[in-house]
Amino acid sequence: MNGIFLIGVDITKVSINEDKGYISFILETDEDDISHLSSSKISLAKNEAKIKIGDVKLDEIHPDLIGLATILMCHQFIGKRLVLPVEVSPKFLEGANSVLSKYKITSKSNEDISANKPPVRSRPGLAYSGGADSCAALAVMPGNTVPIFMHRPMSKDSIYDSEAPLRSCEELKEVGYDVKVIECDLEYLRKPIGFPSDLANAVPAVLLSQSLGLDSIAFGTVLESAYGIGHEKYIDYGNGSHWRFYGKLFSSAGIDLCLPVAGVSEVGTSIIGNLSPFGEFSQSCIRGKWNKPCLKCWKCFRKELLAISLDSNKKVDLKKIMENSEVQIRLSAYPISHENVIIYSIQNIDINSFPVLKIVRNRIDMSTKLDFLRKWYSPSLTFIPEKWRTNIRNKILKYLEIMDKEDEEILLNWNMYPFLESESTKKSHSKLTSFWQDL
Ligand SMILES: [Zn+2]
Repeated sequence: MNGIFLIGVDITKVSINEDKGYISFILETDEDDISHLSSSKISLAKNEAKIKIGDVKLDEIHPDLIGLATILMCHQFIGKRLVLPVEVSPKFLEGANSVLSKYKITSKSNEDISANKPPVRSRPGLAYSGGADSCAALAVMPGNTVPIFMHRPMSKDSIYDSEAPLRSCEELKEVGYDVKVIECDLEYLRKPIGFPSDLANAVPAVLLSQSLGLDSIAFGTVLESAYGIGHEKYIDYGNGSHWRFYGKLFSSAGIDLCLPVAGVSEVGTSIIGNLSPFGEFSQSCIRGKWNKPCLKCWKCFRKELLAISLDSNKKVDLKKIMENSEVQIRLSAYPISHENVIIYSIQNIDINSFPVLKIVRNRIDMSTKLDFLRKWYSPSLTFIPEKWRTNIRNKILKYLEIMDKEDEEILLNWNMYPFLESESTKKSHSKLTSFWQDL
């Protein structure tokens, strides 16, 4: 299958090439796409993404999986129409087009291609990052789960360091996991560097799902991201656009989405990390070296703060971390990202040992009831494929209590607007932001 370019007007055409163990996706954008891109802050930096798939041959990959990978990779860059590099099954084409709203796939399906189906003896995959949430997801998933790490080649333009996640993968291999580290540079498609769609880190897992016998791909999405806890207001995730869109897109390609920790908050994933051996395999900081997090970034601040609240003997120089402008900028956000985790941590820290936190404490709502963050929200089971539900449920309950009705009420009624809109909060916010000069 060599570089098939389809001719058309104002459409995005994608073609694929296979060369020495690599697959390249080549994007050809036209005026329509460019006008769409110029209105956003994100731009297309280059038009080719390479994935090292090793021994797997391109013609052994089901076309629906190529279709899904193409969408995950190009989603942000498409104006009105997308031409896939291969003909797909009618099921995939109809399914994908039923949820694509900004643009449609205009290339054809082929009646002779039957929809992709996982094998009978299948196992789950996990789009693995090496971070705390990803490790907690692995800790509650079946033992035969395949963690697949998308290895982004390092670049001198970025402070990203892959040493820690790669070491994490090595540690998992040591204890028997069939870990796959797949080189893939799709994050360089965009400027600024990053994932071109929310679930683009699953592209290697999608392309290899057939050869690995996967029925589903899991993500370390936590309660805060799924249900909006710690953000302005509760989100009914199951009925929201994100789940509808990605759930349908993946299932149309014969893969189930799996969100094993969607009912677990960041406090919960930290507890799982402390109670299970998996905590030692994780490192959320992607700037430091293995076991030497940078202690300068926002992730490090949040993680250390939470760790102190869970273990009062832990010694950390919080003031030093708070001297970094990235941490100050994040703490000056309104609301603070994962504000619930910040509140929970400060509620459970002896503030006299960390006086630097007083100014943050004055900005947040210390009266918020947050005990539910230590527990598991069981309605999130719907985001786990039926085949693995009982297994994952039992594992979660080894680490966490289940939320009762009262906890669930607090979660469902999460709403920070009245607090954020109050004059006194705004005042303490400006005190906090002017405090940084004195630090
Ligand atoms: Zn860090």
